[in-house]
Amino acid sequence: MKFWGLSRLVLAVAALVAAPVPVVWAGPAGSYESKIAESKSAMMSDPATALAKARSAAQLSVDLSATEKALADATVGWLSAEALNRLGKSEEAAPIAAAALTSVVQAQPGSKLHADLLKTSAAISAKMGEVQKALPTLHSAFSMYQKLGETRSQAIILQNIGSLYQDARDYQRSLDYYEQAAAIYKADPAVTVALFNNRGNALKEMGKFSEAEAQYRAAMQIADTMDSPFLKVNVLSNIAAAQLKQGQLERASATVNQGLRLDQGTNSEWRAFLNGTAAQIAFKRGDVQRAAQLIEQTFSNVDIAASDMAYRDHHEVASVIYSAMGRNDLAFRHLQAFKRLDDKGRDLAASTNDALLSARFDVANQQLRISKQEAQLVQRDLKLQQTQNQIKNFGLVIVLGGGGAAAIIISMMFAFATSRRRRQEISEANVRLTHAANHDQLTGLPNRAFYRELAREALEGAIGDNSRCALMLVDLDRFKWVNDTHGHHAGDELLRVVANCLNEVGGDFAHAVRLGGDEFALVVPKAGSDDELIAFGDKVVERLSQPHDLDGTTVNVGATIGVAVGPVDGADLTSLTRSADLALYEGKGAGRGCTVRYRPDMRAEIEERRALEEDLRYALERGEIQIAYQAILGVATQQLIGYEALLRWDHPTRGLIPPSKFIPIAEEAGLINRIGDWVLRTACNEAASWPEHVGVSVNLSVMQVEGNGLVSGIMSALAASGLAAERLELEVTESVFLGKDKKADETLAQIRALGVRLALDDFGTGFSSLGYLRRATFSTIKIDRSFVKSASNKSEDSVAIIRSIVLLAEQLGMRSTAEGVETLEELELVRSLGCDQVQGYLFSRPTLNPLADIETTYTQAKNAA
Ligand code: C2E
Ligand code: CA
Ligand code: CA
Repeated sequence: MKFWGLSRLVLAVAALVAAPVPVVWAGPAGSYESKIAESKSAMMSDPATALAKARSAAQLSVDLSATEKALADATVGWLSAEALNRLGKSEEAAPIAAAALTSVVQAQPGSKLHADLLKTSAAISAKMGEVQKALPTLHSAFSMYQKLGETRSQAIILQNIGSLYQDARDYQRSLDYYEQAAAIYKADPAVTVALFNNRGNALKEMGKFSEAEAQYRAAMQIADTMDSPFLKVNVLSNIAAAQLKQGQLERASATVNQGLRLDQGTNSEWRAFLNGTAAQIAFKRGDVQRAAQLIEQTFSNVDIAASDMAYRDHHEVASVIYSAMGRNDLAFRHLQAFKRLDDKGRDLAASTNDALLSARFDVANQQLRISKQEAQLVQRDLKLQQTQNQIKNFGLVIVLGGGGAAAIIISMMFAFATSRRRRQEISEANVRLTHAANHDQLTGLPNRAFYRELAREALEGAIGDNSRCALMLVDLDRFKWVNDTHGHHAGDELLRVVANCLNEVGGDFAHAVRLGGDEFALVVPKAGSDDELIAFGDKVVERLSQPHDLDGTTVNVGATIGVAVGPVDGADLTSLTRSADLALYEGKGAGRGCTVRYRPDMRAEIEERRALEEDLRYALERGEIQIAYQAILGVATQQLIGYEALLRWDHPTRGLIPPSKFIPIAEEAGLINRIGDWVLRTACNEAASWPEHVGVSVNLSVMQVEGNGLVSGIMSALAASGLAAERLELEVTESVFLGKDKKADETLAQIRALGVRLALDDFGTGFSSLGYLRRATFSTIKIDRSFVKSASNKSEDSVAIIRSIVLLAEQLGMRSTAEGVETLEELELVRSLGCDQVQGYLFSRPTLNPLADIETTYTQAKNAA
């Protein structure tokens, strides 16, 4: 794993120019000091020499006092560890850095050398994948530099923290750190270039390409003054990529050429990336041959099976180019490389995220501990001087242990230590810290932990005085939609607005809390009658359903509330919460926007569902699940084109259960991937025995598209059956595009790259967004049965909708299929509206025996002719 990622290379450059000589005693020229200086200057370009110089300096530091010796050792240790880490020998570097840290802590705690060593240790931890250790160490280094007034190093540390968050794909947070770095330090061009470049990278990942370009341009302006072609080529390759993402082929092409001119002859990695971008440009211009030449150059020195993260997108480009040329073998290898890197990136993001989260969790715990410790100190009424010392020592312990300390605590401790606080101030800080641990940072509402306390208290109170309390779970409708379409900032803003509403409406009657995500709750300690509760809930729903103004845009969300009354609906917190949850579930099923009180029979429904879920687990093995195939025909020719695979569950006691009922259960129970995989395999096997012009369509659930393993599942289903990829079509609905990340887009692109076709199912019923049609290359749009039905009942609207979908499909080079054609009249209608294909009971009902069906369909077609 790379520490600061390839595009952040400049940062390392900046970090090194930063290292001044930490030696504090004079010595003869050409001896120890000069070796140290030589080691430092070699570090960036030649870490091996730097290591040798540092080691030879160690030989020369003999005639020194004990303290001087410790410092000299620490300096040598620091440089050796830094060099080893740069040489990729992090395991070897780690104990050396640790020993040097011990020396410097004894000889000169809080010194520049100490901070530098912390920085190097953090780099080592990060390179070894120990992000959880790296983050607090960086924070410790930060506050040490802060105390020393080293603003340049502070800025570098903040950038490095930002980079960790960038690895975790927490781009907003990484931007925040880059912002802070910029605010602290602007004097050094190397640091500032890195900063702009990093900001550009984060914005690019967030899909803000023009803003990213602006940042890269700012980086370029500074790089221009630095006379480093290497740096400039790096930044230019980023600019070109951002321009291409904006669809500006001409400008991107000019930037690429500028970069290639600058980079002449060096064949640096940046050159490879410039060629990759150029290949994409050529491909977009339709010059496939040129694109292939360029992408070949990108990978000329790269082992495709072991390439680096920075090549990820170029692999994707290569697989598209090669598959367009029919060089499927190469296309496939690049696709595999893309998938390998993509998975790796995802794993890195997940593990980094986890580590950062727990590091932050540690911080919260530290805060609690500090607040408790402070409280004790106040109680004992110690002198301020003593308090200071205690806190100082505590700070040192954290620094030494490298435990979960972060900027907040350390800077707080330094604040304690440097300015003399009054008791009053300390107890105020205490209150603030306790508040921080109990409240949600974003909205200021009590958090889940505090909710438990509040609810338990209310429940115990109600049991104690024989009264009623209530728990109301509030679920926001369309929050995800706001978050996805208006961005996370708007999402956060909306959560704050909702929190305010709940607080206001709740007043003294109910405590508003945020349980996490978009889940809120109201805890009512003294609940009145059911009618009063429902009326209160409806008032909340009404308030939340009014349009909200978020920074100038108006959004509409709604809410649904589930109510449980304690102790009648649950005598302990767990069962009371569960009851409220069941009521909420029912409310959501009943169309949302309402308040629903729990009823005991809700449990029965859930039990029933759970029983089905249990049976479903074994249904595959027991052979209860089968596939029915329904014919799809061409409208003009009435020729059989293919069959859609539709699941059937023949339950031993309940009989046939329709897929609309058991697929949601399979999704919720985590069974959908197994079932989906089975359908793919079975349908491909079946289709392989059909005439060659007859294809098969398989439905995919959103969860399959979002999960891992779909693409490899498809590959192996094709391989095992021997079915040609072109004969398989996969049907997805628009809801696959509602997810937060771009995973679905990537998966669909990979499926397309295999040569498998995609159909957009049930078009018109969901969001019917034209944007979705561009996010993947669909071969077919399927028009939902409801439009066919109402169009044949003379609905003008439906006729217009079908007509425009057909037109759209024509323009985008797709076929349109009308679903659910049951009568000749409907067939005539969709034919006149221009649909290419039809499917419906008129021609064939889904059948377990498609081969026989093919026979009859042929006879029918012959008779019709
Ligand atoms: P869908 O993909 O829209 O499938 C079409 C549904 O319309 C099928 O219902 C089919 O039997 C029904 N249908 C076809 N022609 C007519 C007609 O002329 N009149 C009427 N009234 N209905 C017609 P089915 O088989 O009950 O499937 C329901 C849904 O279940 C499917 O809707 C699809 O979303 C889902 N499904 C089925 N099989 C699978 C599967 O293997 N995986 C996944 N993820 N979903 C599946
Ligand atoms: Ca379908
Ligand atoms: Ca459909």
